[in-house]
Amino acid sequence: MGLIPEDVIQQVIDRTNIVELIASYIPLKKTGGNYKALCPFHNEKTPSFVVTPHKQIFHCFGCHEGGNALGFVMKHERLGFAEAVRLLAGRAGVMIPESDPAVRVKDDLRQRIFQANEAVVEYYHRNLVAGKEPEVKLARDYLKSRSIDLDCVKRFRIGYAYDAWDGAAAELRQKGFSAEEILKSGLVVPREKSQGYYDRFRGRVIFPIFDYRDRALAFGARALKKDDKAKYINSPETVLYTKGQHLYGLNWAKDAIVREDAVIVVEGYMDLIRPVLAGIGNVVASLGTALTVDHVRLIRRYTRNIIMLFDMDTAGQAATLRSLDTLLEEDMNVRVAALADDEDPDSFILKDGAEAFRGRIKQAISLFDFKLSRLTAAHNAHTIEGRAVICQEMLPTIDKIPSEVVRDGYVRELASRLHIPEDAVAKERRRLGGMAVAARPRVEQDHLNSGRAVHQQVSGRKELSPEESLLLKLMLAEPKWVAEARAVILPEDLRDDVIRRIVAKVYEVFDKEKQVGVAALVNLFDDGAVRSIITRLAQDDLVLNDQKRMFADCVRSIKGFSRKAERQRLRDAMSAAEKAGDWDAVRGFQEQFNRIIKG
Ligand SMILES: [Zn+2]
Repeated sequence: MGLIPEDVIQQVIDRTNIVELIASYIPLKKTGGNYKALCPFHNEKTPSFVVTPHKQIFHCFGCHEGGNALGFVMKHERLGFAEAVRLLAGRAGVMIPESDPAVRVKDDLRQRIFQANEAVVEYYHRNLVAGKEPEVKLARDYLKSRSIDLDCVKRFRIGYAYDAWDGAAAELRQKGFSAEEILKSGLVVPREKSQGYYDRFRGRVIFPIFDYRDRALAFGARALKKDDKAKYINSPETVLYTKGQHLYGLNWAKDAIVREDAVIVVEGYMDLIRPVLAGIGNVVASLGTALTVDHVRLIRRYTRNIIMLFDMDTAGQAATLRSLDTLLEEDMNVRVAALADDEDPDSFILKDGAEAFRGRIKQAISLFDFKLSRLTAAHNAHTIEGRAVICQEMLPTIDKIPSEVVRDGYVRELASRLHIPEDAVAKERRRLGGMAVAARPRVEQDHLNSGRAVHQQVSGRKELSPEESLLLKLMLAEPKWVAEARAVILPEDLRDDVIRRIVAKVYEVFDKEKQVGVAALVNLFDDGAVRSIITRLAQDDLVLNDQKRMFADCVRSIKGFSRKAERQRLRDAMSAAEKAGDWDAVRGFQEQFNRIIKG
């Protein structure tokens, strides 16, 4: 990978939309959740080149070429790896550390600002924990009144910014940060009439915002004085922080999200902190903005199941409704949980406890039901006009759902709830320009057979084990299967050496990141045949299948083969020992053999 740092390559991949990229080279046609085209890498008359947006990969079913955005550019533009990274970095506005001194400085600046943020997280935190001044006591009293104790302050690294003009700034100067670095950190505000700058956050309780790797990105600050105009202010956009690209709490939540295979999305800092303190760890906060595509892509590394939790004031409703369509387009399973008008997760848990909160989460309703209930509350479904409005509002949302089976189900449901004949709804849908009933990939019926069929296509390779490729397919579909497989299957249990190599890598990445991005995974292999297997397996949509049963089937069968191979090994060893007359060894092998048979 040469001189380009790993995290910059990751950033380039994260910031590149493979659909936009490939569409700038060849025309793409949307079919369901994917895009199709005539393959640019071999001659064909019917399209077999598929781009999968939510995995950020492409795969050709004709010539088996497959990969991520980088792979596409390398192949199409005939570029080397580093050149391809540079090209995409330029498109995505990502800085690459180069021998060019000007560029080098910019990349160093990112690192310096991470360090500056970290220094200031510590500084604010120290103020709050150890400060003796009356204003610090006031801040601690405020937190106590919100039921936030010292353990919690430490866990979330909460801090306090003195009501002074030169607190964080002085700390940074003292730690050797330059004026430019201090200004670009967003922690200070430049003076208008003279040189210099002053602290942005003054007299406020500070909530540091970290990225999913625990690096301090930005800060949220809550006012303590009643006369402060803004209750919360946040860091401005910096080289590290862009509004709508990060989720508060993801660094703490990622393990729990994978374990629960679901994430609860709340609005504010306290909405997140309270459930986490109550033992509900799979929570992230969007910090007041509607969910963006970037948010959804971050979440999808860990799960496809989102529970949106909003207080039902007007802002909450508008934000929820705005974010609905994005979620559907990105192929997430979304439910909505509601609290009463004057409640938020913090106040609810303090009043009614964690169990009641869990109950609300369990009662979360589908997005379809949520939107329909909002609309029927706003428009009279007993009148023809009311029904027409509801229908017109619901249909575009339904059409965003990638699965045709689910979409058709909702169209029927809508017709029945509004007491309109189904074909009238269908007609309205066509009139509104709903998607034509395009051919979509059929849901796999016999998953094991289809696994076998796949690998007969991979030219020049022996057939892969169907259960091993299905296991890998599951792991590439949902991180929770990596967590489960990690506990029961060792790479050594796998017979196919290519799958064994891929699975070992998947485990390694998962241990570090708690997620496995397919687009990033293909980067780790130079061998085109291996990349092709990964992109092919990651293509399949497994959502509608019984993944739990499939997983259990795979594990049972892989374990069975692995035990059989072990028995054979012991039998061979036993007969060798017999020939050599080593009876102790024979007894030892016999015992091991018996254990396996019992196990
Ligand atoms: Zn092709």
